[in-house]
Formats: sequence, structure tokens, C-alpha cells
Amino acid sequence: MPTKGTKEWADKNVNVYKGCYYNCKYCYARKMALRYGRINKPEEWTHVKPKRHIREKNWKKIKGRIMFQSTSDLFPGEWVIWYPVLEKILKAGNRVLITTKPNFDVIQGLVIIKKHLHQFKKLIQFRFTITTHSSKQMKWWEPGAPGLQERLKCLKTAFNMGYKTSVSIEPMLTDQPMELVKKIYPYCTESIWIGTINNFNLNDAETPEEEFYYNKIRKTKELCFLTELEKKIRKYENHNGRNIIRFKDSIRNILSRNDRNQKSLESYF
Ligand code: SF4
Repeated sequence: MPTKGTKEWADKNVNVYKGCYYNCKYCYARKMALRYGRINKPEEWTHVKPKRHIREKNWKKIKGRIMFQSTSDLFPGEWVIWYPVLEKILKAGNRVLITTKPNFDVIQGLVIIKKHLHQFKKLIQFRFTITTHSSKQMKWWEPGAPGLQERLKCLKTAFNMGYKTSVSIEPMLTDQPMELVKKIYPYCTESIWIGTINNFNLNDAETPEEEFYYNKIRKTKELCFLTELEKKIRKYENHNGRNIIRFKDSIRNILSRNDRNQKSLESYF
């Protein structure tokens, strides 16, 4: 079975919290929490609660890489809750992918202030989620999360401090992803992942405002848009002599479906 979702990035996910203050409009974790009765109303997702058993757990070295976190984030006022868990995981010798819509106090704290974390530098890779180059779009889709300039500053800071850095443009919340790629590319030592919005129906707009924002990204799921994007990326990477941009399964599936259709048409003729 081909890997997909977070399994493409890590072997295990560790989440210190139930819920998330950032309350992104497309949040799949909130949808699942509602479906399985962990919350009763969408608003309850922002009533964030630490998971005691994760905080008390003692870690051993595991095979593969750990993603920290996948269904919540690293909140600046709550170091005492999430930081000891991260430290225990690293002290056990685990490789960690710190996945976050980054807050500058948190990143500055991790890469500059907490100097003893430097001994784990080789085990850490940052994956910053930066979904669009438009501050306005970002604010609308991800209302509680840090803004665009703050996330870019976090990326540059971690890069300048010699940490491994990568970016997730998933979901792609812009129909001009190359504008964003050009901003982040020089500061990524590792991969840049691009994926479309998933598990979210762009035809379900209930207000003119939703209609407006959904329309802005509708074409990011279309085959011709993704085919063009693939060409632009190839050209850009050839020019830069690197090969770090990857498509997530959401895009690979659309492109490979088209390849299969073309092959069956060719065999027909
Ligand atoms: S940051 Fe992630 S977990 Fe938090 S609300 Fe946004 S999508 Fe959901």
C-alpha cells in the first residue's frame, strides 16, 4: 500500500493535547473528534486539554521518526505542558519532526534560548506549515494561528541557527503557490511538500464570504492547474539545481489518474 497523509512523513504521531486553539476552517482532526463523539460541538475544539498519559509517559528509542504534533500545535504560554514531552522523546534518542504553524516565541525559545536543545540538533527537523503567500487568506482560513510574516520569520530563524528546515504547503490555500515557494525555498534545507485541500467540500459554501474564499482555491484541485504547476516546479528546481519539492498523495493521485487515462486512450488507438 502506498503511504499517505502523515505516514509519508513519520512512523508515529505524538499529540500532547486534545483540541487546538488555532481552529482552522478545514481542520480534519476537529471533524474526526466530532464524528467520534470526543467533542459535541465544533466550538469545543478550542477548549484545549492536555493528555495526562502522554505527559507522564517515559520514552524509549523507537524505529523510525516521530511527528510532534499532528492534531494540535505548540502554544507559547504552555511550555510546561508540551516541552517536557519533547525533551523526553529526544533524550531517548528519537528523531523528531516538529510540525507546527510556528509561533515566534516558541521557535525562538527552541532554537536560541534553550541552548541545551542544540545537542539534539541532528535529531530534529522542523516542518513549518505555511499554506499561502497571502496574509489575508491565511487569516481567514486559519484564524487563531500565527500570521504569514511570523511564520516566515520562524523559518528563517531556525535556518540561520543551523537546524534542518522544511515546509508543508498543505492545504495549498493559494492559486499562486510559486509565489510562496520563491519566498521559502532559500530557507529550506530539506523538503517542501505541496498538497491540495482534503476532506473539505468547496461546493458547500453557506455565506457569500465562504463562497468568495472557496472560489479562490477551487482550481488548485484541477488537473490542468496541477499539470502546469508540476512543469513550473520542474523548471524552477532545474534552475536552482535542487530537487526538494514533493507532491502529497492528494496531488499525486490526480496526476496519476490522468496518466492512466492517457495510457488507456493510447492503447485504444
Ligand atoms: S493547526 Fe492543525 S490541529 Fe490545529 S486547528 Fe489547524 S488544522 Fe486543526
